[in-house]
Amino acid sequence: MGQELQRQRDHLELIASENFASAAVMAAQGSVLTNKYAEGLPGKRYYGGCEFVDKIEQLAIDRIKQLFGAAHANVQPHSGAQANFAVFLSLLQPGDTIMGMDLSHGGHLTHGSPVNVSGKWFKVCHYGVSKETEQLDYDQIRDLALQHGPKLLICGYSAYPRVIEFEKFRAIADEIGAYLLADIAHIAGLVATGHHPNPLPHCHVVTTTTHKTLRGPRGGLIMTNDPELGKQLDKAVFPGTQGGPLEHVIAAKAVAFGEALTPAFKTYSGQVIENARALAAQLQKRGFKIVSGGTDNHLMLVDLRSIGMTGKQADHLVSGVNITANKNTVPFDPESPFVTSGLRLGTPAMTTRGMGTTEFTEIGDIIAERLLNPEDEAIAAACRRRVGALCEVFPLYPHLTIPVPA
Ligand code: PLP
Repeated sequence: MGQELQRQRDHLELIASENFASAAVMAAQGSVLTNKYAEGLPGKRYYGGCEFVDKIEQLAIDRIKQLFGAAHANVQPHSGAQANFAVFLSLLQPGDTIMGMDLSHGGHLTHGSPVNVSGKWFKVCHYGVSKETEQLDYDQIRDLALQHGPKLLICGYSAYPRVIEFEKFRAIADEIGAYLLADIAHIAGLVATGHHPNPLPHCHVVTTTTHKTLRGPRGGLIMTNDPELGKQLDKAVFPGTQGGPLEHVIAAKAVAFGEALTPAFKTYSGQVIENARALAAQLQKRGFKIVSGGTDNHLMLVDLRSIGMTGKQADHLVSGVNITANKNTVPFDPESPFVTSGLRLGTPAMTTRGMGTTEFTEIGDIIAERLLNPEDEAIAAACRRRVGALCEVFPLYPHLTIPVPA
């Protein structure tokens, strides 16, 4: 753990799905709540001794409902994938058709990939982004939906840098009589603070992770404005797909949701977007192509085909100068998912460390220097020094000490 703390301190963390939870969130997770069984819901448990975990779980529920304006929430899903699985169990039968975005265009594994239960138990049709704009094309999505008639339409993605128009998805879902699920795992923090439209008024169900832009513990949750559906979803979580809830994680969720309700978190979320714009702009200035021409949220995809490089090579090069990112397919990628033509970059984690647009412009420049000079070891050493200087000015968890073995 000491070595991992040191790694997090020494590296620029640009994985779009990662963040640094607060010391209070981590303290809640490392608490005595880890010892407690609490199958059921607050006030309706199958175990004794739940009077205090009841209060904690209810607090998490009340805070998340307040954050998103949701009528009903279940905070027990152990992860984003578990939340989606519970939605499928609740709304679908094996053999039904679902429709989500193709993984290679930015969709998630749980939205119908053949290696996931969503792709094994359901018929899947996928939509992608438009070849011209590299953005969602709602006419194309409508045509596909009319053609395939899915019972569940899924929006929300892992690598899509633009705004999602939930009301357009709802119009399509209504036309074909489908349920609409928004999986806002990536953008939840931006939605909670009004920096991205809220899906709750338009979608039957909303799922999210709690550890990305929302900056909580690793976990998932489900929300809906339909009370009947809410009851069904509760049963799909427990006993449908899970056993005892992780009350220590739920306490950490309550802490994080409390933090997300503060004006400081709203400012933070706005800064995440400003920083992403600054990073994309600097990369564009240095000649890189950004998928869809930029970003409206916390992430971007760099299309490396114009410099004749793969995502795998770029990932390796930046990690050599202590920058952590991930290779990612770009829309219509000619390379395999193991090689890819893109690099996905996100700003939530380093914004938490306090960096602003000046620092993200510098980060864009360091990445450009490294990728444009892949053979130059002197430039690599200079990039490492620049990364080190940034990390030093914005310390991470300064009060934490974990001994590192000699
Ligand atoms: N949904 C989306 C859109 C995601 O991006 C992710 C994770 O990256 C998940 C679901 C799954 O979340 P977890 O890893 O917590 O299962």
